Amino acid sequence: LSFHGDESGVIATNDDASESKRSCVKLGYYHDEYLQSFVKISEKKAPEINRGYYARVKGIEICIEKFLKKTGDKCQIINLGCGFDTLYWRLRDASHMVQNFIELDFPTVTAKKCYQIKRNKVLLEKINIEDGEIKFSPTDLHAPNYHIVGVDLRSVDEVANKLKQSDVDFQLPTIFLSECVLVYIETANCNNLLKWIASNFTSAAFVNYEQVNMNDRFGEVMLGNLRARGCNLAGVESCLSLETQILRFVQNGFTGARSWDMCQIYDSLPTSERHRIEKIEMLDEGELLVQLFQHYCITVAWNGELFQDIEITVE
Ligand code: SAM
Repeated sequence: LSFHGDESGVIATNDDASESKRSCVKLGYYHDEYLQSFVKISEKKAPEINRGYYARVKGIEICIEKFLKKTGDKCQIINLGCGFDTLYWRLRDASHMVQNFIELDFPTVTAKKCYQIKRNKVLLEKINIEDGEIKFSPTDLHAPNYHIVGVDLRSVDEVANKLKQSDVDFQLPTIFLSECVLVYIETANCNNLLKWIASNFTSAAFVNYEQVNMNDRFGEVMLGNLRARGCNLAGVESCLSLETQILRFVQNGFTGARSWDMCQIYDSLPTSERHRIEKIEMLDEGELLVQLFQHYCITVAWNGELFQDIEITVE
């Protein structure tokens, strides 16, 4: 199996996401003391962008917490297209120690992540090494309950192989996370990956954040910007509506799925938090933020006995 084409545009989206999150953290939207280890540049982004990333990070955290409430720490988290995400360390600080945490991205990205971790005492100290040690290769990291592996998510065989090297346990409840990733994966490959997940994991939950409503004028402009930067939006057909986002999961073997745009997610955040962050920066144009929020969504999907009756609601 081989994929031709230049992945540098897609890989660069990680720098963009990480720099935007760094901008957000620096202004006090949310706390993440680990991100600065991976991102040195901290150019200030527009207020709308900062609020958008704040809602993204908080919204995902809330969904993950809901699944964690159901599983306790007797679960696995698998982060697809992890980039420089720091969730492993943030969960450790929130006193969570999930049984296994596996991160996957292109080898170019995981190599950079591993390199930074290897030379950073703060990051290293928080990786659990009870009954083991941390082993590095140029692109991979293996520790007793934390793994980073370089892989192309379009190849299910490669993914299966790398997960096995990371001590994956198909019987353990597993929370998958993908944040602005599936849109870059060809629909047929993404379907294969989701089918493989739904049929191999006894209990799986999936939290997916990405673009939605891509067929209106604003959506077309967003897609045009990404294409101009060399990104192949091979999976965009699932980003047309909340309905297509849900269908992607249920048609590939998940029992159920729900999807909310970021207006709904933002409105569901605690009022005090919203008031706090709304004071950080004045918005130049409130309308732009609403449009951005209408074009991103969080979808949660579930499969298997444990999650069968899960009621994830956003109010
Ligand atoms: N999830 C991270 C976050 O939100 O901070 C990074 C998001 S970035 C927009 C998208 C990530 O998906 C990049 O790190 C990119 O390398 C990864 N990605 C996209 N397609 C991939 C593929 N086929 N295999 C592995 N990683 C992929």
